[in-house]
Amino acid sequence: MDAARFAQPHLLNQPVYQPGKPIAQVAREFGLDPAGVDKLASNENPLGPSPKALAAAAAALQEVNLYPDGSCWDLTGKLAARLQIGRDQLVFGNGSNEVLELAAHVFLGSGTEAVMGVHGFVVYKLATLLMGAKPVEVPMPDFRHDLAAMRAAVTPRTRVVFLASPNNPTGTAHTEAELVAFARSLPEDVLFVLDEAYAEYQDRAPDLRPLIAEGLPVLCTRTFSKIYGLAGLRVGYGYTRPDIAALLHRARAPFNINAVAQAAAVAALDDADFVRRSRETNRAGLKQLAAGCRDLRLDYVPSAANFLFVRVPDAAQAFVFLQQRGTIVRPFGHLPDHVRITVGTTGQNERCLANLRAYLASRV
Ligand SMILES: *Cc1c(COP(=O)(O)O)cnc(C)c1O
Repeated sequence: MDAARFAQPHLLNQPVYQPGKPIAQVAREFGLDPAGVDKLASNENPLGPSPKALAAAAAALQEVNLYPDGSCWDLTGKLAARLQIGRDQLVFGNGSNEVLELAAHVFLGSGTEAVMGVHGFVVYKLATLLMGAKPVEVPMPDFRHDLAAMRAAVTPRTRVVFLASPNNPTGTAHTEAELVAFARSLPEDVLFVLDEAYAEYQDRAPDLRPLIAEGLPVLCTRTFSKIYGLAGLRVGYGYTRPDIAALLHRARAPFNINAVAQAAAVAALDDADFVRRSRETNRAGLKQLAAGCRDLRLDYVPSAANFLFVRVPDAAQAFVFLQQRGTIVRPFGHLPDHVRITVGTTGQNERCLANLRAYLASRV
């Protein structure tokens, strides 16, 4: 019998996450040398991993016969001190992706709703659907979250509101005052998930810790995948009210953060120099990409993150054209005239802009 006939019915329509295309795959498909392919598709750190993190990961490999510390003791302690919060306020995930899913696990199910922006991070919708709950997608004029409209979309069935600032893929961000007012406006039985995956790229990221201390149901999520350059190791975390953290812990698998990842993340937190260089590289690269787009008369959304959301005619065609020339960007099925370009090194950005220029020239 077809297994779909005895699977959970809501799963049969579950969309599948489409990741950025790997370098090896593009090289294979287009007959290119992988060394000449630039991946600007997944907002990864173009400087590579922090060298300190790499050394710690190599050392940790020696002991992978042992299970990891299921409590992430060292990492928890370091981050709790850094953030000046209690150990009992932290939860780690296999990427912050898992923390978002844990929130969905705990608070969403059939008959409940989650509110999100229509151009918000796609994982919110996937996690909501996975739990059999209803995603309520709020329009985003000018690709910005409309906080008043999101508040208005909250109903007695709403259990979670998802919001990224800076947002992926649009790069738009909200001020601390806006986020605080929004959080305060929500009912006390609605979890506000503020996704801070790109907060480290901001000069001064909004800080919702005082609201959490005050007792508001706020979960902030962060990741080691972006500025810390450890996307392949999969570590992210959430910080929240202790009772919410305890619920999230109930939903997570034992040993969800592997030993190599834990060691690397601890070391990455100590590599302030790498984080500073990453921020500076990004700031310069963002300027370079934006100036290049203005030159090419391509509209873009001003970005607070490590990528640029650019309006390109026939994005699906551009995606293929750019790959032939060794640049992988990220198209979006529901946005046929936009691509997202991760800020790379100066050389990667230069090649990307030259390839975009060639693409535009090929169309006239
Ligand atoms: C990249 C990203 C994440 C999570 O990435 P992980 O690798 O799972 O930590 C979460 N939210 C947003 C908005 C992102 O862009």
